[in-house]
Amino acid sequence: MTNPVLLRRQMVDIGRRLQQQNLIVAAEGNLSVRLGGHAFLVTPSGVGKGALRVQDLLEIDLHGRCTRGRPTSEWPLHRRIYESRPDVMAICHAHPPWATAFAAIGRDLDGSLLTETAAVLGMVPVCPRAEPGTEAAASSVLPHILGHDAILLGSHGAVAVGKDLPAAFALLETVERLAQVTLLASLARGDGGSLPPGVR
Ligand SMILES: [Zn+2]
Repeated sequence: MTNPVLLRRQMVDIGRRLQQQNLIVAAEGNLSVRLGGHAFLVTPSGVGKGALRVQDLLEIDLHGRCTRGRPTSEWPLHRRIYESRPDVMAICHAHPPWATAFAAIGRDLDGSLLTETAAVLGMVPVCPRAEPGTEAAASSVLPHILGHDAILLGSHGAVAVGKDLPAAFALLETVERLAQVTLLASLARGDGGSLPPGVR
């Protein structure tokens, strides 16, 4: 999809779904789409993504320059990913609680636990903790982004990329479900809360 009007509607819709599905609260999370060239569409800073309007969305260049408004403070993270992955057309970042629990304790998720996630995810690595919005946080994904479409941000949340925003969002949903089942599988096994084999 390249129609800018449709892309804006899509971003508003996915912002609403992020909040409805408890993947974010308050003004958490951010979304972006590559429009072409050095132009991107991004969510603004400090606005609840569940109540976004199409006119709230901002156009931004790779260096973070906007013609108006204040973009998400986490644009450096998006920029690093777009620079590293020319194939990535959209990025979805949120703080899904189950996945963020793993990020908080610095543990990777192992997609091989489930047949469905084995096919689309593989490992979901976790980055070292870094202050959101900083260059350190943006750079923390670099060791992983070439080989992974979903990454946990240490003590922070999760980021997923895709060929479009619905694909990135779907991957983020999948990461959250994997985190949930990983923990439930551990409890079902009755192993006292230790993690399944393959999960560091
Ligand atoms: Zn965040």
